[in-house]
Amino acid sequence: MRSVHPIRIVARLRPPLPGELCDSSLDIENPTPPTQNQSQQYISIKNPRDSSQVFKFQFNSCYGADSTQNHIFSNEVRYLIDIIFQGMLATVFAYGVTSSGKTHTMQGTADDPGIIPRAVEEVLQHKSQLPSSASAQVAMSYMEIYKDEVYDLLTQRENSPKLSVRENSAGEVFVANLSSRKIDDISDFETIYFEASKRRSVASTNLNRVSSRSHAILTLTIKVSLENKTLTGKLNLVDLAGSENNKITGNDPTRMAESSAINKSLSVLGQVVHALNQGASRIPYRDSKLTRLLQDALGGSSLGLLICNISPAAKFRQDTLNTLNFAVRTK
Ligand code: ADP
Ligand code: MG
Repeated sequence: MRSVHPIRIVARLRPPLPGELCDSSLDIENPTPPTQNQSQQYISIKNPRDSSQVFKFQFNSCYGADSTQNHIFSNEVRYLIDIIFQGMLATVFAYGVTSSGKTHTMQGTADDPGIIPRAVEEVLQHKSQLPSSASAQVAMSYMEIYKDEVYDLLTQRENSPKLSVRENSAGEVFVANLSSRKIDDISDFETIYFEASKRRSVASTNLNRVSSRSHAILTLTIKVSLENKTLTGKLNLVDLAGSENNKITGNDPTRMAESSAINKSLSVLGQVVHALNQGASRIPYRDSKLTRLLQDALGGSSLGLLICNISPAAKFRQDTLNTLNFAVRTK
């Protein structure tokens, strides 16, 4: 058994960027690996005025600055691929201040791919190894939530780009008209993902919105048919909006609306994860569009992973503390 929490909370500290002034009071105790399976892993942060005073934040796992994309994928994500082939649902979130490494962790680079391309590869490999009596179909959808509105990243919609969120008679929440594309091989995925990423950045330029101010949700759906039974599993991979500085200040109405939407959705996410990890009977899914849309894959028998990306930069010290406090509150 990996963890008693339905949603594992892990930390990943990114390495310093060239020329970056780092916060030397930030440290990790018992990082993962090599001390894997250690039940107590902490990010510690010293009081700058009294270095004998150390604040410790416990996580299910802590990944240091030298952790690789492969460590994270192998330790935290690979087993989720197995369970979605059994018809279960799972969600992975990257949380943190802008520049803390969320996109690096989820998407990565061509040379150093992150969770999304690795997950797709693993899914396709899994599919190719199914017994000959079984068959599977893999599809992806990709959407963005900006100021509490949903946008499709797989289709250009000039006239009515906002999609509506509906509920069917069984109480299942879905995005009306969200497109979905079949993925037969890795090149299908690469083409679709590349187009979508371009669309995301073009939309952000045209609409004066910054991609770090929106949540991006990529969903892989796997339908496995065996004899006359079909199992549908789903994996949501979520690059969350930057958690920094979301105070509602200033007089720019667009930025204010952005901030208030981000504040609200991240705080509801924290409450939902906390309620699930505590086994609470009331889970406040409906309090934000993000959690409402992910409701079926959060809780019940679904599994989740919340990666708290942490920047070592001195200038983000307060944001780092906020991230650590957020993480601790979700347990
Ligand atoms: P975010 O998406 O949280 O805003 P990014 O993923 O864009 O942050 O990371 C900011 C910068 O740090 C990028 O240049 C990225 O390549 C680099 N970076 C982030 N995490 C790592 C890591 N683990 N190893 C090396 N470089 C990283
Ligand atoms: Mg990013």
